Amino acid sequence: AKASTGTNSVFYQQDMEKQTRRRYLLDADMRTALAQNDFFMVAQPQVNQHGDIIGAELLIRWQHAELGFISPDEFIGIAEKSGFIIPLGEWIFEQACLCITRLQHTPLKQHIKVAINVSAKQFYQAEFIERISGLISKHKIKVSDIELELTESAMLEDIQLAVTKITALKQIGFELSIDDFGTGYSSLSYLKHLPVDKIKIDKSFVSLIDKREDSRAIVEATMLIARTFKLGLIAEGVETAAEVATLSNMGCNEFQGYYFHKPMALNDFISLLTA
Ligand code: C2E
Ligand code: CA
Ligand code: CA
Ligand code: CA
Repeated sequence: AKASTGTNSVFYQQDMEKQTRRRYLLDADMRTALAQNDFFMVAQPQVNQHGDIIGAELLIRWQHAELGFISPDEFIGIAEKSGFIIPLGEWIFEQACLCITRLQHTPLKQHIKVAINVSAKQFYQAEFIERISGLISKHKIKVSDIELELTESAMLEDIQLAVTKITALKQIGFELSIDDFGTGYSSLSYLKHLPVDKIKIDKSFVSLIDKREDSRAIVEATMLIARTFKLGLIAEGVETAAEVATLSNMGCNEFQGYYFHKPMALNDFISLLTA
């Protein structure tokens, strides 16, 4: 499809213009969206080898008044560019605090951890730790109930500053995970300087684990790394029983994925826990 005709490039240009306009619109609409509650969080349960729920990752959703559902893959990048991710990230953190408070008021059989995604821009902001510590005090929750997920590539943007910040976050008591592990094309030497708790095996490797030898090798290497550095390990994007079986045989015993649970409304998550 390389032989691009004149019409094709016209369509291409129209597509680009449409996309630019959409980005512009989303960018402009974010502030009002936050004010009028068009953002909300969903929870995707995380389970152990018995299928028991041990935690949840909170994921943001945007129900746009005219455009309908917008994926975080689309708008988080826009929010990072504009800087809106700072107030939005704080709102997300506060939603996590509220979720934990709700869980505390719910009679549960097991302890549930709540994970949230922290964007690079938010993480490297000078006041980040101060701001989230303020929210922790305001909501009087246990710091260790919140797990912060940072992508490997975010940590690698400025590894020295990341080590300093993560060390400080650990001292306060936060749990930290490396998200999208294996996609950062990094040297692994940085790991020994990072006091993180857990690695999340990226779904791109999980989905190919039974199909491609290289993906399988990356997952095996990741498990070895987790064992060596005494880190927790969770596989994300687990969709089939075969993937669960392969991962279990390899020694992974925490899972997140559609095979177990899809992301769901917080009310449904609470119902699921108390069922
Ligand atoms: P992520 O942090 O890697 O989140 C995992 C994504 O995989 C989620 O997509 C989740 O719904 C999806 N997923 C979970 N299990 C499966 C599965 O079995 N199969 C498949 N195909 N997908 C699965 P989602 O919610 O659309 O989020 C996409 C990305 O947007 C996230 O990737 C994260 O990078 C970002 N994001 C989402 N919520 C937030 C947030 O609150 N703050 C920030 N900074 N980023 C967020
Ligand atoms: Ca994540
Ligand atoms: Ca991930
Ligand atoms: Ca991802």
